[in-house]
Amino acid sequence: MDNRWIRKTLQKAEPYVVPAISESIVINANESPYTIFDFPEVRRDYEKRFVRFRSCRYPDPYAEELRLALSGYMGCEPGEILVGNGGDEIIGLTVNTFINPGDTVLTHWPTFDMYGIDAVMIGGREVRVPDEDGFVRNAAAYRRKVEEVQPKLTVICNPNNPTGHVWSLAEVESIAAAAKNPLLVDEAYMEFAAADSAVSLIHKYDNLIVLRTLSKSFGLAGYRIGYAVANKEMIKALSLMKPAYNVNAMSQLVGLVAMDNRDKILAYTIPRITAARRYLAEKLRTLPDVAVYDSAANFILIRVPDGAAAVNALSAADIAVRSYKTEALKNCLRLTVTTNETADRIITALRKEYSHA
Ligand code: PMP
Repeated sequence: MDNRWIRKTLQKAEPYVVPAISESIVINANESPYTIFDFPEVRRDYEKRFVRFRSCRYPDPYAEELRLALSGYMGCEPGEILVGNGGDEIIGLTVNTFINPGDTVLTHWPTFDMYGIDAVMIGGREVRVPDEDGFVRNAAAYRRKVEEVQPKLTVICNPNNPTGHVWSLAEVESIAAAAKNPLLVDEAYMEFAAADSAVSLIHKYDNLIVLRTLSKSFGLAGYRIGYAVANKEMIKALSLMKPAYNVNAMSQLVGLVAMDNRDKILAYTIPRITAARRYLAEKLRTLPDVAVYDSAANFILIRVPDGAAAVNALSAADIAVRSYKTEALKNCLRLTVTTNETADRIITALRKEYSHA
């Protein structure tokens, strides 16, 4: 076909590729080792609702029941929530709502690549503020950059993927106060952090959008349930580009089950993941020549002497991890935190690799 048929900003783009996985231990996508269906009472709750499920009906376009439940979790009003087909859709809606061709999206770098990808697809530009040594972000420097550029959209990923670095609420607020245009605070991993959510700021800052997801802490990545928390005007703006039936009915049902049982689910999973994070970090720190970065999320970033060799060694041990092409993350691997047993397998494989060196 004629490439010029494609919108100009997409003509040089490539489809987003997720590499095929052949390993059986998968720690490359920050998925939870737990699912809400592991809890017998949660499963029963789900089955009770599923009996009444009518697949011939279109889903509720605004997921009213689910956003009521999510508003209880977030401590806000239902009208201050927009449910998306994963947090990914919330990022897409945010970029598509605010970015004109030529507009700037400001990110700290390295971070989740979707903000920049979505921006570039519609002709926006990503301006990146590099982290300091050890992937530490400097909030004052970021705030100064916001003041200098006044980007059309500022992004904060907190805790940051893939580095695990977290900013305090005061640090996030200092940036919210400086930004004259929308600020997206992506809290996909916030449940794993000992930091406070920026949701408490949505009445104070009308430019603030907080992204959350049920993919990570609730182990529901397969159902694609993410949401934005913001003031009502902002939710209305983000809804302009929303496909009518963006969240399917099955996902709305499962999201409701998760919310109605959230205390039980989080009380079980979060302490286990944070303990497993501590265990994995301690073990990794015993390896020679491996830099281990402090993480507030359900993954740990490490830098090894030879990234490709480490990926291969882990693959030979049947473990799939995430590695990167960007220069900032040269020789870095991101390991999702799951169980101590998996941690032991990682350490055995890496130790073997280094004993050959
Ligand atoms: N934000 C961040 C920082 C992420 O890492 C992810 C998942 N990789 C998302 C948003 C999107 O998550 P989901 O679409 O599964 O809700």
